Amino acid sequence: MNDILPGEVETWQHLEEQARRIFRAYGFAEIRVPVVEKTELFCRSIGETTDIVEKEMYTFSDKSGNSLTLRPEGTAPVMRSFIQNKLHNRDPIAKLYYMGPMFRYERPQKGRYRQFHQIGAEVVGVDDPKIDAQVLAMLVHFFEEVAIPDVELQINSLGCPECRPAFRNLLIDFLQERLESLCEDCQRRYRTNPLRVLDCKAKGCREATLDAPSMLDHLCGGCTGHFAQVRGHLDDLAIPYAVNPRMVRGLDYYTKTTFEVVTGSLGSQNAVAAGGRYDGLVRELGGPPLSGIGFAMGVERLVLMKGEALVQPPRLELFLAAIGDEAARQAFILMSSLQRRGHRAEMDYEGKSLKSQLRRADKLRACHVLILGEDEIARQAALLKDMDAGTQEEIPLAGLEELLLERLRRL
Ligand code: ATP
Ligand code: MG
Repeated sequence: MNDILPGEVETWQHLEEQARRIFRAYGFAEIRVPVVEKTELFCRSIGETTDIVEKEMYTFSDKSGNSLTLRPEGTAPVMRSFIQNKLHNRDPIAKLYYMGPMFRYERPQKGRYRQFHQIGAEVVGVDDPKIDAQVLAMLVHFFEEVAIPDVELQINSLGCPECRPAFRNLLIDFLQERLESLCEDCQRRYRTNPLRVLDCKAKGCREATLDAPSMLDHLCGGCTGHFAQVRGHLDDLAIPYAVNPRMVRGLDYYTKTTFEVVTGSLGSQNAVAAGGRYDGLVRELGGPPLSGIGFAMGVERLVLMKGEALVQPPRLELFLAAIGDEAARQAFILMSSLQRRGHRAEMDYEGKSLKSQLRRADKLRACHVLILGEDEIARQAALLKDMDAGTQEEIPLAGLEELLLERLRRL
């Protein structure tokens, strides 16, 4: 679990601000849900035989003996809230987004942490393929705006309760014939979660499943039509994508369209965003039979991908270097007034020498430094240095604040 410190938090804030701005344009409103839920919620939604539920949840009993879990993902809590608050009565289509910490007890490594953060979005109530395309368009738009390069959108369809069971059986038969080649995990789970084997990173599993049957060849008429329409809309919007028939998701609730945004730059942690349709989930959780679709982006991975292009903390606009008590008093009044007007101003509080105050101004990358020395005060003046231009001018104390405001505005 990481601390996010000043210096890197600016990149986080930038990503969050861009997400808010862009998601708003597509009609999404923020929803904030608790970080703990009843354990049962995740077992029912994500699925008992998934990695998350089998081994990655932070689960504990509270003082009344309820089993609670730190949320490992955002979709289930958002759907729980949607149902509980009857949001479907407000509007036939709900477009929601969230951001915040998630928790999974995984082996920590680059791009994989035990507390990580997701920015996610969900649409509930409509299964029109235009919505799938819109969600993907918004996701791709976000990646463009935050200038994260070298990403590819991959899409697939996982079918529905009508066509997936037959495919699942076909896949189990296929895997059974190749059991010796599969890793221990997959030998154990190929019956309970055969699709997951297609997603296994182990070399043996990858090789053994190269010619595995593809869900895309076994979709029912409804799913085939839906997928074709999603692709058509993506083409209409000129959104580039690749069909990846091997892509499955680690959560049980997905149906039809699934997708990932992948990158070549993060090693095996190559998915930066992932999501899909979950038409049965709301009903499964006790709500009305409404369809849904959504995605989540991993913020840590986005930040890693920004790499060199991290967002810099804003520069200090003005450092007030004051020598002597009276000068420091006047500098303090002036600084407070500038801060109230929204300007980033700072001064020294320790009676340091002029030289060391100027060093601090440098460190804070101040654009301007105002020197209020005893000599200057005696002359009822101050010295304003423009740190970038390397120039300085003496300005009278009378009307100093107005003149500074004028200068700072021109930055
Ligand atoms: P992966 O295959 O990388 O384990 P996942 O399928 O478990 O991903 P999802 O549950 O779909 O991931 O979560 C969506 C996104 O959240 C991922 O694409 C990734 O960017 C991020 N993510 C998931 N788990 C972690 C983690 N432990 N640490 C950091 N980011 C994570
Ligand atoms: Mg995972």
